[in-house]
Amino acid sequence: TKWVYNFGGGAAEGAAAMKNLLGGKGANLAEMAGLGLPVPPGFTITTEVCAHFYAHGKTYPAELGPQIDAALDRLGQLAGHSFGEAKWPLLVSVRSGARASMPGMMDTVLNLGLNDETVGALATIAGNERFAYDSYRRFIEMYATVVLGLEHHEFEDALEHYKAGKDLSLDTDLSAADWRTIVGTFKTIVEKATSRPFPQEPRAQLWGAIGAVFSSWMNHRAVIYRQLHNIPEDWGTAVNVQAMVFGNMDDNSATGVAFTRNPSTGARELYGEFLINAQGEDVVAGIRTPQPITEAARRAGGSSRPSMEAALPDVFEEFRRVSELLEKHYRDMQDMEFTVERGKLWMLQTRTGKRTAPAALKIAVDMADDGLITREEAILRIDPLSLDQLLHPTIDPDVKPTILATGLPASPGAAVGEIVFDAAEAEALAAQGRKIILVRVETSPEDIGGMHAAQGILTTRGGMTSHAAVVARGMGKPCVCGVGAIRVNYEEQSFSVAGRRFSKGDLVTIDGSAGRVIAGAVKMRQPELTGEFAVLMSWADAARRMRVRANAETPVDARAARRFGAEGVGLARTEHMFFEDDRIIAVREMILADDAAGRRAALAKLLPIQRGDFQELFEIMAGLPVTIRLLDPPLHEFLPHTESEIADVAQAMGADPAKLRQRAKELSEFNPMLGFRGVRLAVAFPEIAEMQARAIFEAAIASAAQTGVPAAIEIMVPLVFSKAELDFVAERIAATAKAVADETGLSPKYHIGTMIELPRACLRAAEIAETAEFFSFGTNDLTQTALGVSRDDAGSFLGAYAQKGILPSDPFVTIDQEGVGELVRLAATRARAQRPTIKLGICGEHGGDPASIAFFESVGLDYVSCSPYRVPIARLAAAQAAL
Ligand code: ADP
Ligand code: MG
Ligand code: MG
Repeated sequence: TKWVYNFGGGAAEGAAAMKNLLGGKGANLAEMAGLGLPVPPGFTITTEVCAHFYAHGKTYPAELGPQIDAALDRLGQLAGHSFGEAKWPLLVSVRSGARASMPGMMDTVLNLGLNDETVGALATIAGNERFAYDSYRRFIEMYATVVLGLEHHEFEDALEHYKAGKDLSLDTDLSAADWRTIVGTFKTIVEKATSRPFPQEPRAQLWGAIGAVFSSWMNHRAVIYRQLHNIPEDWGTAVNVQAMVFGNMDDNSATGVAFTRNPSTGARELYGEFLINAQGEDVVAGIRTPQPITEAARRAGGSSRPSMEAALPDVFEEFRRVSELLEKHYRDMQDMEFTVERGKLWMLQTRTGKRTAPAALKIAVDMADDGLITREEAILRIDPLSLDQLLHPTIDPDVKPTILATGLPASPGAAVGEIVFDAAEAEALAAQGRKIILVRVETSPEDIGGMHAAQGILTTRGGMTSHAAVVARGMGKPCVCGVGAIRVNYEEQSFSVAGRRFSKGDLVTIDGSAGRVIAGAVKMRQPELTGEFAVLMSWADAARRMRVRANAETPVDARAARRFGAEGVGLARTEHMFFEDDRIIAVREMILADDAAGRRAALAKLLPIQRGDFQELFEIMAGLPVTIRLLDPPLHEFLPHTESEIADVAQAMGADPAKLRQRAKELSEFNPMLGFRGVRLAVAFPEIAEMQARAIFEAAIASAAQTGVPAAIEIMVPLVFSKAELDFVAERIAATAKAVADETGLSPKYHIGTMIELPRACLRAAEIAETAEFFSFGTNDLTQTALGVSRDDAGSFLGAYAQKGILPSDPFVTIDQEGVGELVRLAATRARAQRPTIKLGICGEHGGDPASIAFFESVGLDYVSCSPYRVPIARLAAAQAAL
């Protein structure tokens, strides 16, 4: 077996594609060497050796020793002097490198091969004794800490002690003699700790370092990191042994790191830092402040110290050429490490650079425009979820705010406003143009108006799926939930936190992306929906097959949906309109009426309100399809709770409060989720569905008269499990349509369909499709009913399921493909067999989840519908799924 792969001298046995065998670092070193770039020669010991090491009681394959000897010989020939040679020693670095970059693994050992004899030779060759002893003391410390298990502070303390005794403050103040003394001290430290002298024999040093790299694969830190990032244990790490080059030889030497483009903005500029006369990690260690690479960056940063461009102009030009070549070759932004030894550039590492979401967009679009990558590749390079960062205002990254308290990042974006503790008051103040943060212990459906009016929502109780969190995400409002450290006092209209008191009207900032609460108003940055964002989204739109609609019922949401590119409304939840203002009283009247006449009287009050809402929705959507769901939630949710609420309804109805109290009690349910809701309401009280249908038709007529564009109406009946239920409601709707036609002479076109959210409906899909012209899978409820898991109660046990690997992910976030997905697939197949033209869509949280969207593409659904702020995410995810 070949266990060792050589690179350097203008050639390489490996290549970038061999990451599994050579690790990321080794594969890219080979690739660069193969391209003829200046890479110090070396070799990579494969990840298969790591696997062998652990499979055979931490021993090596027999051929490894000879293969390493041969590689060292070759290295010596390329370098012109050999490893272990006393007069002109070849020194090496030993670097770990797994397939995926993995903090927690062994640190790099530099200058390996130095000992009491070779250090003198190095001094002679370099003509610089100080450099040689400085390198040796670095090596002793690195080897001792990384390979022999000593602690850094033992060496740092000794160095500090020495400096203090000689009244020296900076490392640069130390002379060759000083370092020579330090080397002696360091060796004594090692000898005391290990009861052995510091290893002098270069080959023993090398094997020690190789063993340390392989052993570090099972480090506690590395094991934990792999668990957190789902990196399989059997990948193993490779070991890279590479000839040293020295950035610390003189002032024509340097070391640095750079990106081929700016990783925070994506701008096309070489971006990085370097240090003159420094080695390895000095740049990131923060001992000296590094200097910018380019003159432009130096001017922008106002630094007085020279850039690399100014200090080492020839090397800089060479480096610029290499970095352009690397970017073209890899066809992506690169993150590079380099060293300059006496005016000669050496490349030590390259990899795909990490970047912010805005930078990722800009880089992808720029590269596609330049023809470096295709538009498809540009689309595939953006993580759809990362777009979320771009769609909401964020706290200005230059601000370093003082955090009052933290909670759950329930809904992204940042918001500033006066704190208000009451939803109605929030609405009233917002109507005067004030900016409000609604602060509640928790929220309930009655708070919807206030939540809508507020800039953001803060609750002290509840989790990521609490009412506040779900509603806020749907509205695209920033929300921080469950901030336990804040104590709300409703009576005093204040809250206290961290020994401070905040009263109504005080300003706070919340950051729903990070779950932070901040005192006062913090500077914001507004989202940009133009530029690269718009360009990339237009490419995604051209590439996707599925349509993307939004779940929206209010004008604000509907407008946001269109701004984000929604192609219609996939779900308008009519009950959300019932909670605003005093509408709830009329709704309660309707519910609590004890006969159809009483109900009709209450419904007559609701009709004009609903008609107005629908008309506005149709006008905003301007002919795009609008799916309106008939009243869905359990009656339970609308019941009056308090005595004063009962009194209000009693007064409006002219009814006896005691009777109402009794009726409310009768209607209250043990399990509302499986109770009196959805189509069951329409079956029991058809006049509700009739009123809603009339409101829809009259609104469509008014909207068409107003705009000249006919509304595309889709009426959706929720929670059906049989064709008979749907037929019953469909007949009422048809009768209402006819009545409206008789009255007005106009009959707006409409489609009737159903929400599929019960397993029985999936099974009976063929029959149901005889009546239904469209299905919208309500995967939230379908998940609840298929798994028999109530979403509101799942918090206490689903965590354990995820932790113990029983469920791969939260089924309310990413669709359970095997179960719920199978139901969707089956229903789609049966429905299409019955009615080939049936339109199939999905609404609910899964409609905005990229992994679920990929599944819906595979089922061939016609569209997904999600909350307005998720629309761009869904557009991109749908494009990726189609490619
Ligand atoms: P990490 O994975 O932590 O970045 P590396 O193996 O890249 O570790 O090593 C860290 C640094 O050590 C490099 O950036 C480089 O500055 C220095 N280094 C590694 N190998 C050599 C070498 N052969 N010659 C000079 N410097 C080296
Ligand atoms: Mg590195
Ligand atoms: Mg439902």
